[in-house]
Amino acid sequence: MTEKKIPYKIYLEECEMPQVWYNLRADMQNKPAPLLDPQTKQPMTVKELSNVFCEELAKQELDDQTRFIPIPQEIQEFYKMFRPSPLMRAYRLEEKLQTPAKIYYKFEGNNTSGSHKLNSALAQAYYAKQQGLKGVTTETGAGQWGTALSMACSYFDLDCKVYMVKVSYEQKPFRREVMRTYGASVVPSPSTETEVGRKILAEHPGTTGSLGCAISEAVEKAVTTEGYRYVLGSVLNQVLLHQSIIGLETKAALDKYGIKADIIIGCAGGGSNLGGLIAPFMGEKLRKEADYRIIAVEPASCPSFTRGIYAYDYCDTGKVCPLSKMYTLGSGFIPAPNHAGGLRYHGMSSTLSQLYHDGYMEAVAVPQTTIFESAELFCRTEGILPAPESSHAIHVAIQEALKCKEQNDAKTIVFGLTGTGYFDMYAYEKFHNGKMEDYIPTEEELQASFAKIPKI
Ligand SMILES: *Cc1c(COP(=O)(O)O)cnc(C)c1O
Repeated sequence: MTEKKIPYKIYLEECEMPQVWYNLRADMQNKPAPLLDPQTKQPMTVKELSNVFCEELAKQELDDQTRFIPIPQEIQEFYKMFRPSPLMRAYRLEEKLQTPAKIYYKFEGNNTSGSHKLNSALAQAYYAKQQGLKGVTTETGAGQWGTALSMACSYFDLDCKVYMVKVSYEQKPFRREVMRTYGASVVPSPSTETEVGRKILAEHPGTTGSLGCAISEAVEKAVTTEGYRYVLGSVLNQVLLHQSIIGLETKAALDKYGIKADIIIGCAGGGSNLGGLIAPFMGEKLRKEADYRIIAVEPASCPSFTRGIYAYDYCDTGKVCPLSKMYTLGSGFIPAPNHAGGLRYHGMSSTLSQLYHDGYMEAVAVPQTTIFESAELFCRTEGILPAPESSHAIHVAIQEALKCKEQNDAKTIVFGLTGTGYFDMYAYEKFHNGKMEDYIPTEEELQASFAKIPKI
């Protein structure tokens, strides 16, 4: 019997697009630990969370029981502008590597914001509109989340205020201008606009900022402005829920051709794309219906899983957000400038942290120069210019494919290609000119940061 030839791109029909999100927590026996109030250290209620987040999103955040949550019709309509996204077979990369492995990647860079973040941005903007709000505030690191949210807010006619990590604000003027084109107002963080921003500036003059610090500013602005709420592009359970569409589509596309994945790989910043990609596969694993190797890839400069500790910690530098139990480097940890800005977060999704803690997934950390070598190889073979964040997943997929070659083992590898790198050409330039450096935190730096993690 001849094997059915798998096309370069496996597309789903519009009508095959998932109509529900999958809530992985429903299948977890050890649920992720609850968010705690930073003052009282008691679990947060929907009511309390609703002062910061939209009410429906606060409900989703705390719901660890409902397995499937219907995607509102209006969101489905918006999703159809760029979804279903293709699952690609990397034939040319396989050929180049001379590997018997079969490599697939789910490409989420097919929309103007250039990444998977639009999946959750649309959902969050929709619920804000439903609640009758005037606008939302947020932070952005590399700018992908801010861009996605700006797009979503312009669709739903909401104000959008973005605190952009200062180093990115300066290094990525084009990102900033895309956001402004969609109507957002963009402020470099730390700023003098908020109390917490002023405090951080006084303590760390000349700081290039961090995601944790921009989050504090955005939260402060939201809770002190009438008709505004705060939205976050990663880390939270609600974001993983919205991103489950990536995994559900991937699984539907694989099932369509009777393909069974062996290894699933994703980059991990706050954990949203990875959590979304692996959701239905992890669900099978938790229910003992199937087994997969699942690998999180993080930058060596910000190694939350591989060198962090599992503890309750603040999600932001200013300590205004709830405490989350997660793998963390400490909320005071300001990672060295790294070109994968979307991965520069000190913590990790509490859901993924619990799963990692329980041994359901693996993690590796890789230095950025190595990442760019793989990015270039991928670009030259597959044609897509990958985001530095996504290239972490590419790199480990290549390594696994090379292992398959050594062992003459035709494994099926699936990885998440979260976005494109058109706004990262300074990084590529540094790499081409041999000017890229790897900053890896020392053990002393990490210990100093761990010492400041609250004892709970
Ligand atoms: C933000 C971002 C990431 C990392 O965020 P997660 O929440 O960990 O998924 C990865 N890739 C791209 C392209 C991003 O924009």
